[in-house]
Amino acid sequence: MININTNYLNLKESYLFSDINKKIKEYKKINPDAKIIRLGIGDVTLPLPKLIVDGMVKASQEMGVKDTFRGYPPEFGHDFLRNNVKAYYKRYNVDIDLDDIFISDGAKSDMGNLLDIFGKNNILIPDPVYPVYLDTNIMHNNNVIFIDGNKDNNFLPLPNDSLYGKSYIIYICSPNNPTGASYNKEQLKEWVSFAKKTESLIIYDAAYEAFIDNDVPHSIYEIDGASSIAIEVASFSKFAGFTGIRCGYTIVPSSININGVLLNKLWKRRQSTKFNGVSYITQVAASVALTTEGIKECQKNLCYYKENARLLKEFFKKKGIWFSGGDNSPYIWLECPFGMSSWEFFQFLLEKCNVIGTPGVGFGKNGEGFFRITSFGTKEDTLEAIRRMDLVL
Ligand code: PLP
Repeated sequence: MININTNYLNLKESYLFSDINKKIKEYKKINPDAKIIRLGIGDVTLPLPKLIVDGMVKASQEMGVKDTFRGYPPEFGHDFLRNNVKAYYKRYNVDIDLDDIFISDGAKSDMGNLLDIFGKNNILIPDPVYPVYLDTNIMHNNNVIFIDGNKDNNFLPLPNDSLYGKSYIIYICSPNNPTGASYNKEQLKEWVSFAKKTESLIIYDAAYEAFIDNDVPHSIYEIDGASSIAIEVASFSKFAGFTGIRCGYTIVPSSININGVLLNKLWKRRQSTKFNGVSYITQVAASVALTTEGIKECQKNLCYYKENARLLKEFFKKKGIWFSGGDNSPYIWLECPFGMSSWEFFQFLLEKCNVIGTPGVGFGKNGEGFFRITSFGTKEDTLEAIRRMDLVL
């Protein structure tokens, strides 16, 4: 008999989205005419900007011509795209070495794959957060320690005295999914300083950085000294609407040296052994998204979502309901009114308003009593949801 990775048996089944769909189905059975508005989605809904589509069409045509046909792409990404990533960071006064940029098929894969280059470790994960951090570490049988996000710290936990004395891999997601909260420079400095003092490493998830419109950092490398203790994972999914195209990148600085071993070297080895690169067509699309014109077009789509977020924010503010997010983020994370639990409020919104959101408890125990509403719907749906919620909240 062969041995399996029994760590997988320690994963909790994730019923969150299947339970949501089950409850909607049950409700629709009894109320077939209900016009349900889905504000639970974490996926983009607007089509790709035309100049990105044009880039993909042109790249596809090149693949059909002998002289311009291309086979395997370089494992770490085409230089034309890596150069555009480098230029993108320059906007935030961050200088990234081309050699430290690794193009991938998205942030989720990289989040999981990165664990290949580490042994057993203590892992510091905020609660609530994107569930992939926890599950990938359970698969590797790592020792997970949670740090509490709550109303008192605006869902932005910081290092505390009890954490000193050990080294950790620390996950930071800013702007955060699901809470929409983002760390400011001073707070990130605290994390960087903690990581240095405890010989820890930060994995910084910047998947939502393009939503930032105030002065919070876009990159962990905006903090002095971060390049020796932080890996950054980024994605074109939310920024350029690439959830269906699949492209992201991870920055593993050559300056991260752990006991004489360069992480950049290990990651190169990992990628060249297990990954064969991202398609040329996709990389062309991503590089178009990072041109000045491309960024402008992508931002137009983000502005549409951000306007929805603003409307939702104004509404909850008017109702006196506590929330985080909405700024710098497509997510509004609200405290369930009337002392309801996450699922009670889900059912309440479903039955009274025919509006769907995501119960916060699905993102960790500290999410109980909270609820995530997203701005990825249409403006019409968002306004209609607000109108309906106004009648009952
Ligand atoms: N990181 C966070 C915090 C996310 O919320 C998501 C997707 O929702 C991802 C990463 C995944 O990004 P990608 O589509 O690039 O795999």
